[in-house]
Amino acid sequence: MLSYEQPMTERELHRVRLHVTGQVQGVGFRPYAYRLARSLGLTGFVLNDASGATIEVQGRARTVADFIRRLPAELPPLAAIASCRAEPVPPLADEGTFEIRPSAGGELTDAQVTVDTATCPDCLREMLDPADPRYRYPFINCTNCGPRYSIIKRIPYDRPNTTMADFAMCGLCARQYHDPADRRFHAQPIACPACGPSCWLVDTRGKRIPSDDAIAAAAEMIRSGRILAVKGLGGFHIACRADDEHVVRRLRRRKHRDAKPFALMVRDLAQAAELVELDPAAEELLAGPVRPIVLLPRRPGAPVAESVAPGLDALGIMLPYTPLHHLLLGADLPPLVMTSGNVSDEPLVRANDDAIAHLAGIVDAILLHNRPIQRSIDDSVTQCRPGGPVVLRRARGYAPRPVSVQAPAGRTVLAVGAELKNTICLYSAGRAVLSEHIGDLTDGRTYRRFMQVINDLEALFDLQVDLLAADLHPGYLCTEYALRRGAGRLAGRPAVPVVRVQHHYAHIAACLAEHGFTDPCIGICCDGTGYGTDGAVWGCEVLLAGPAEFQRLGHLRYFPLPGGDAAAVQTARPAAALLAEAFGDEATALGVTDRLTEPERLEQIFQQLASGANCPPSSSLGRLFDAVAGLCGVARANRYEGQAPMLLEAAAAKGVEEAYPYQLTEGEPFAIDHAPLIRAVVADLQAGTDVPTVAARFHNTVAAFLAASAGRARELTTSAPAWRDCSGRPTLRC
Ligand SMILES: [Zn+2]
Ligand SMILES: [Zn+2]
Repeated sequence: MLSYEQPMTERELHRVRLHVTGQVQGVGFRPYAYRLARSLGLTGFVLNDASGATIEVQGRARTVADFIRRLPAELPPLAAIASCRAEPVPPLADEGTFEIRPSAGGELTDAQVTVDTATCPDCLREMLDPADPRYRYPFINCTNCGPRYSIIKRIPYDRPNTTMADFAMCGLCARQYHDPADRRFHAQPIACPACGPSCWLVDTRGKRIPSDDAIAAAAEMIRSGRILAVKGLGGFHIACRADDEHVVRRLRRRKHRDAKPFALMVRDLAQAAELVELDPAAEELLAGPVRPIVLLPRRPGAPVAESVAPGLDALGIMLPYTPLHHLLLGADLPPLVMTSGNVSDEPLVRANDDAIAHLAGIVDAILLHNRPIQRSIDDSVTQCRPGGPVVLRRARGYAPRPVSVQAPAGRTVLAVGAELKNTICLYSAGRAVLSEHIGDLTDGRTYRRFMQVINDLEALFDLQVDLLAADLHPGYLCTEYALRRGAGRLAGRPAVPVVRVQHHYAHIAACLAEHGFTDPCIGICCDGTGYGTDGAVWGCEVLLAGPAEFQRLGHLRYFPLPGGDAAAVQTARPAAALLAEAFGDEATALGVTDRLTEPERLEQIFQQLASGANCPPSSSLGRLFDAVAGLCGVARANRYEGQAPMLLEAAAAKGVEEAYPYQLTEGEPFAIDHAPLIRAVVADLQAGTDVPTVAARFHNTVAAFLAASAGRARELTTSAPAWRDCSGRPTLRC
């Protein structure tokens, strides 16, 4: 990474210029370089520039070499060097010292905006020390921790460009901010009780509730069973005790959220261990600087109300990540429900007035503060897997950390994502910046947020997009946005080409990019819905995918989806379709359909299947799970996305080894035939086999046919030239 090979003679003065890229802005990198250079007696300077940081150091050859060697080895915790290029420059006469210079101007395409980071141990220690000026101060932070992305308005990341601009620093804060030896040197959100933000409690009409300590008063209200809104880092949470069934049920009623699981916040790892099974990897993820929600196996007898996560065997928990959370949970509270502060499916609330207007019907009081939130950011959601953590919702703590992508230079690309769980991606110069989780674009308000995030990210990184990438689905709002913008029909936006990308190919290509693969790979996509190149609803796809094109090697055998999108809600619809595929005319008289829905409803679905009206063909794996969940009686409908499969997974017995039969058909692409599997499920149910066993055998079968598909794909790609004619063109230009 570091390359500097210059014959160095002792005594002579040498000067070297270092161009450093990576996570080096807003993370204490400049004071770190300053301290290192000073400790070695070197002169020169460090400054932030468009691509990261530039350092010049001057001194004896050995000392300069020492600096270059130690620079990457002793970085502050949040900093990361992506590259460091060194070049010799002529030494300067009369340079007396090493200094930190103001940020340079210029193109900002490559600068890094860093992530919001959980309160560090040093700040926590100070916050709990009665002798410290920031004792119990809920906005304590330093160079190693605190808000970043949620408060930045423009780059470079300097205080006037953040929502802290209106808080004038007091003497103490200013001294620390300007002292290169201090932990808070250039900590842009630096604050203290004398000069920084504060918090207060209001009732549902916005009237202040008097108290000496708003956080202690809020904690007391929560303890007594009230529901509170709490302003946090990237939005509002709704908080209440998680151990009281009545309280959680009341929250569900008020929030109009009948089943979707709530996230929990616990005080520390010890409290987490009472609720869920922990291992070292889970502890590291929970207590690390990102502090995401981690989905973990629920412990039997965990002191959590049943209605927190009805029917599920996992709980989503997180640890406090702001000083305010630490103070709140530190008041000896039980585990709290901490769910995002919005009415179900509406975008996040971030302004104080909006919170009072929108949340008054849900909560009993609101804990506010006056540090403005520049952009709404949800909590990230992760899962621990054997290969490391998997991010299910990438937001706080991850966004907008870029992914390095090996792609041709010179293009600036905006990819607008898909409809559900939308995020967007901005690509330039080898780096892909992913936005925070935006949400489901079927909602008009979320669509507005989608456009805000696009405008915000393009402005923040000062990029001119010259290519748009959009999903192949003709009905997605995001695709429509790209087509309108591409055609020059959006005010102030020039016409640019649009590339349409198949949904599952995009999933696999993203995975390849994330892991730095550029060779063609066999990728298996297990999904609910994606528009196929043949117009069918794809969802279980075995692809040979490279950076530029793909070939469909195999898929789940098509079955009709009666009612189209409605088939993703009512499990009887895919179940009836799969029964009809497996049994033909006998499907209506199997004696296992009474758990699905009322007989008349089922009869209508079978009639629709017979007529073929509005029954698009599908290879959706999600609908296969839905169908089996329906047949087993664990879910008649998905009341939130993925509910039926989650309930089926939770129902599955442990330790069951058997699987049902399936078949891979010949042909290009090959098909995974589900009829043998469905016939075996029905036979088990007719024989009275218990649901946990059926659920487990079903999961084993899915694992088996996916593994077999990978094997078949391997045979197909090694016995023939890797790239043959694709059945559908991988990407379509328009
Ligand atoms: Zn700190
Ligand atoms: Zn201060």
